[in-house]
Amino acid sequence: YYNESSVVFHNGAFKNPKEVLLETYGQTLHYGNGVFEGVRAYKTKNGTRIFKAEDHYKRLKYGAEVMGIPFNYSVEELVTLTYQLLVKNNLEDAYIRPLITAGADMSLRTSTEANLTIQCWAWGKYMGDKLLRVKTSSFERPNPKSCFVDAKITGHYTNSILATNEAKSAGFDEALLLDMHGNVAECSGANVFMEKDGKLYTPKKGNIMPGITRQVIMQICKDEGIPVEEKLFTIDEFKNADAAFFTGTAAEVVGLESIDNYKFPKDFETTFGAKLMKLYQDEVLEQRQKQPQHA
Ligand code: PMP
Repeated sequence: YYNESSVVFHNGAFKNPKEVLLETYGQTLHYGNGVFEGVRAYKTKNGTRIFKAEDHYKRLKYGAEVMGIPFNYSVEELVTLTYQLLVKNNLEDAYIRPLITAGADMSLRTSTEANLTIQCWAWGKYMGDKLLRVKTSSFERPNPKSCFVDAKITGHYTNSILATNEAKSAGFDEALLLDMHGNVAECSGANVFMEKDGKLYTPKKGNIMPGITRQVIMQICKDEGIPVEEKLFTIDEFKNADAAFFTGTAAEVVGLESIDNYKFPKDFETTFGAKLMKLYQDEVLEQRQKQPQHA
């Protein structure tokens, strides 16, 4: 992720990652009380553009707010700093990882001190490009009454790690997690869509991370006349889908081959997922031909 010439932003200064000292007594390490984001910048025909930068930084600030972490940077400052960081790293296409860590405090009340680190590196599609073989996880997504599932809190990701370890150890590519009622929720770090009888479905908000990519995909569907509905569905319904795909900033749009070794019947190349994969690339590269709006 970094080398001698890498630059990170840390508490007001640009530094080499090796010069960054993170507090070993800090609450983020001990208790998982930190907040992060996953953002991408793309080299577009209009120059390097951080895709949906404001939405990502709003979600970062929301996470700090719910955890009571004092964090005073504005969205505008964060966006400006991130563009500066990309230039310092000579990166045009990049994955960007802002992280707020809470200060040293062994009590279980949020520390009054916060640190900001922003890192970036060149990173291809996180889950690759080939169709994924997915396993239903024995781990459920956290109950939204036990935490803020819509915030990217560092500690929540132990759930994603358990699910991913389980799926990969069993020879699968990724995990699909259910919510506490047994409905399909999401992947460890991406949202899920299924196609059935010419329509797309994605779990409604409440028990999932409401992904920014998910939102973009739904907007593209609306523009392109692809029917899409937010609705809870069970794993049995999912296994009867014609096709499925995941969406996320790191993963972008990636198709599924199978769930628990049940192969999705529709040739992925002929599905909405394949079409959306292309349209999403056009969108992030600012090359999408907007459809004329009909009344
Ligand atoms: N679900 C989870 C659990 C995630 O960690 C992510 C990545 N933030 C997503 C979904 C996708 O969100 P986004 O499209 O905003 O990257």
